Amino acid sequence: MLLSKYLAPTLRDTPADAEVISHQLLLRAGYIRRVSSGIYDLLPLGLKVLRNIETIVREELDQTGAQELLMPMVQPAELWQESQRWQKYGKELLRFKDRHNHEACLGPTHEEVVCDLVRRDLRSYRQLPLTVYQIQSKFRDEVRPRFGLMRGREFTMKDAYSFHADEDCLSNEYQNMFDAYTRIFSRLGLSFRAVEADTGSIGGDKSHEFHVLAQSGEDLIMHCSGCDYAANQEKAVSKKEISSTSNSQLPQDVSTPASKAVGDVAALLDYAESQIIKSMAYHVQGGEYDGQCVLACVRGDDQIQEIKLMRALGADEIQLADEAQVQSMGSVSGYIGPVGINAPVWMDQQLSTAQGMICGANQADTHRQHINVERDITEANFADLRNVQEGESCVHCGGEIESSRGIEVGHIFTLGDVYSQAMQVGFLNKQGRRAITTMGCYGIGISRLVAAVVEQCHDDDGICWPKQIAPFHVSLITLGQSETVRTASKEVYDQLQEAGISVLWDERKERPGVKFCDAELMGFPVQIIVGDRGLKEGHVEFKARRDEEKTSVTLSNIITHTQQHLAL
Ligand code: ATP
Ligand code: MG
Repeated sequence: MLLSKYLAPTLRDTPADAEVISHQLLLRAGYIRRVSSGIYDLLPLGLKVLRNIETIVREELDQTGAQELLMPMVQPAELWQESQRWQKYGKELLRFKDRHNHEACLGPTHEEVVCDLVRRDLRSYRQLPLTVYQIQSKFRDEVRPRFGLMRGREFTMKDAYSFHADEDCLSNEYQNMFDAYTRIFSRLGLSFRAVEADTGSIGGDKSHEFHVLAQSGEDLIMHCSGCDYAANQEKAVSKKEISSTSNSQLPQDVSTPASKAVGDVAALLDYAESQIIKSMAYHVQGGEYDGQCVLACVRGDDQIQEIKLMRALGADEIQLADEAQVQSMGSVSGYIGPVGINAPVWMDQQLSTAQGMICGANQADTHRQHINVERDITEANFADLRNVQEGESCVHCGGEIESSRGIEVGHIFTLGDVYSQAMQVGFLNKQGRRAITTMGCYGIGISRLVAAVVEQCHDDDGICWPKQIAPFHVSLITLGQSETVRTASKEVYDQLQEAGISVLWDERKERPGVKFCDAELMGFPVQIIVGDRGLKEGHVEFKARRDEEKTSVTLSNIITHTQQHLAL
């Protein structure tokens, strides 16, 4: 392929709206262009990387016996109504009507469609287990699309779904997928970690996320320095030492003018932050508390983990309550507390036996002290609601908990019968009785992986693709326009291709500096530079993308040298 004809426009300057390095480099090196918020063109280079990733994913999934198919992106509302997600899924689901006024949506995921497909032909346990997968565009109307391919609205996902006659069989497949994912991310040359995860809006019980470790990652992963425990902060647990205090005094109001923050109250009254009950009011959508406000409480030195709170409440969405909602709970902002509040109270389990605590008194400029939770807050519900923090102890081995940032590139779930029951995916079991299948589902963010790889594989000059997924193996750079360099370059170009080595030939009339910069930016594993000076001695220059130095290689050896370097 000739670079002068290739649609790979490079940019000298960093585009202003690109915050993370992968977004900047993919734009600058001519891999992607923005169409609108969260929607991108993949230019030829970008598409090649995407396809190379897909190939690795396909090879590993085919190995597990999963069968590739392709389901539609447009999905009828009826199927989503059957699973009850039409009401539940929220604004990420892009809904529309066709010319016949039929409601439909763009698929953000395919549990409904795959259940509908499988239930029609599934008769007997003999047809199980069955695992199918597809690689396809998804649409999610994300609140905050950002970071280029990392969080798009339209993006490419591999999604797989498995159907089983019993739980053991599902467990086996879950492990198979776990292993296949481990092979896929290893083959992609990534440094990654599998972590226990929340099951989110998909439902189900067991779940692992696979994270590429990178500073720009949106997720915080907590992991133990002593054993292999690792979990997303949304789900992580730990042991935290709490100094217990005992108290026999009765609750009493205390004046705390203009002291809303935990730190202010602690300083004013000389309490430890951990002795303050931090309370936050939330308005809830979905579940038992639909349309109501609830109060959530943790110790003053902890943070509320909203995903844990959502799960505890069985809610679809929660939002911090506004002033009017706080008033309707019989309280005032900044002085809200669990004693006498007109709302259900949910407290972190670590507060269940706390004594001598202080909390907002639900009156302006006032707190209430000497609170013993068991004695004074009798209606409270308890659950794990706090964020685990670095330095706490592992529940399994007592080791120290550390944290890293991660980019979620894969997610596997056991779904149980959440969808198969709602959608009646049934079969006749060994005993000849009708039973419902149990399911698993398994996603990989293919287009997000393109960005995640760049986050890990780049330097100051540009991208450094792992050779397994580089769009081309070689940048062939011709310096000058003499007949000699053109003929020699053409010869190398032809021979590389004959040897099965993919090559982008920079034969443009550009200055050497421009060509070198573009080659570094695009980031193919090998550069071969053909110039008059070297040719006089029968040499061309060879440079591996990660090396500083070029080496001279004779024309006759260059193909073998490149093959050896790429280990082809
Ligand atoms: P996130 O927490 O990042 O929103 P999710 O839990 O919604 O992810 P899943 O429903 O499990 O994601 O989707 C499977 C995979 O698809 C994810 O692991 C991720 O790699 C990818 N993915 C999800 N949302 C996006 C998006 N908006 N843009 C690109 N890839 C995405
Ligand atoms: Mg999401």
